[in-house]
Amino acid sequence: MSGVADGTMTDAPLAEAAAVLQAGGVIGLPTETVYGLAANAADEQAVTSIYRIKGRPADHPLIVHVADALAAQQWAEWTPAAQRLADAFWPGPLTLVLRRRAGAPPFASAGQDTIALRVSSHPVFQRLMQALAPVGITGLAAPSANRFGRISPSRAAHVRSGLGSAVPLVLDGGPSEVGVESTIVDLSRGAPVLLRPGGISLQALADCLGQPVRAADSQATREADAPRVPGALPSHYAPSVPLRLLSAGALAALLQQRATALSAAQTPVIDGLPMGRIAVWRPEPPPEQPGLFWRCQPTEVALAARHLYDTLHQLDALGVDAILVEQPPAEPAWRAVQDRLQRAAAAG
Ligand code: AMP
Ligand code: MG
Repeated sequence: MSGVADGTMTDAPLAEAAAVLQAGGVIGLPTETVYGLAANAADEQAVTSIYRIKGRPADHPLIVHVADALAAQQWAEWTPAAQRLADAFWPGPLTLVLRRRAGAPPFASAGQDTIALRVSSHPVFQRLMQALAPVGITGLAAPSANRFGRISPSRAAHVRSGLGSAVPLVLDGGPSEVGVESTIVDLSRGAPVLLRPGGISLQALADCLGQPVRAADSQATREADAPRVPGALPSHYAPSVPLRLLSAGALAALLQQRATALSAAQTPVIDGLPMGRIAVWRPEPPPEQPGLFWRCQPTEVALAARHLYDTLHQLDALGVDAILVEQPPAEPAWRAVQDRLQRAAAAG
């Protein structure tokens, strides 16, 4: 692994990464949202490698990462709305879906005539794009650097453990600050539509655009035939063991039930799920029980988002029977965290 965790990095690993990308290879790349699996978006074979390594279905389009709004205009038909959002939120955790420009490489679009574009604020990403400009690489296709459907990586070590030797070069830019995937807004179909919640709220987008933004999961949008997208699958971002998302009260009751079973020297089985060893992610420390592992769920949303995937990776590695998560507040600011937890829970 190249680089150091404080985000400083010498030129050597960046030059190596640029050489790998120029030769049609893939690398692990830090961004402020999650780590990406990056390849030259203009190289069909390189983009195909991303799908193979991730095990991602071929009809799921990839986000193309560019250096700035000017570079984005080489890839997409630019619009005033795109300019507004780019001015307000780039570089940052916002992806814009626009009509793809005639002649722009289509390989990341999975057959759609649109393209998703983002400018990451991560300093390592920015330096890499600078190093790539002289060799004519202006876009990196970069989905999250994990196997399809599994927990996303927020640290270089997660990429290593998830993808191993398939990705020999992982640039280490430290833990991802935002911690959940970008907000995606589709500007290609008239009225703007939120395809995926992320660090930037629906309200912030609407305020910037001066018009309402619908959510893709709303009834009205479903009827308008929203495109099927991987982040929109009901099951995604999942640990290898069952994850249950429970209200504070239901979680407390379950722990009580487990305590009762243990005190009767029985192996706890709750709702058909064996709970000999469990992990709990909630704000309050639970009363101690044998075989119970607790991590503190931050009550501040930015911190909870930043810790989410790292916590799930850690809890998954404990070899527990189940991961029990307290439902975070049902408030708009928590939408992205709620969304990822619900999809993790839907996996079983
Ligand atoms: P990721 O898995 O982080 O690479 O994000 C991919 C997501 O970007 C997909 O789930 C879609 O929501 C969105 N996306 C990418 N490209 C397109 C496109 N051409 N049209 C519509 N949505 C797209
Ligand atoms: Mg992903």
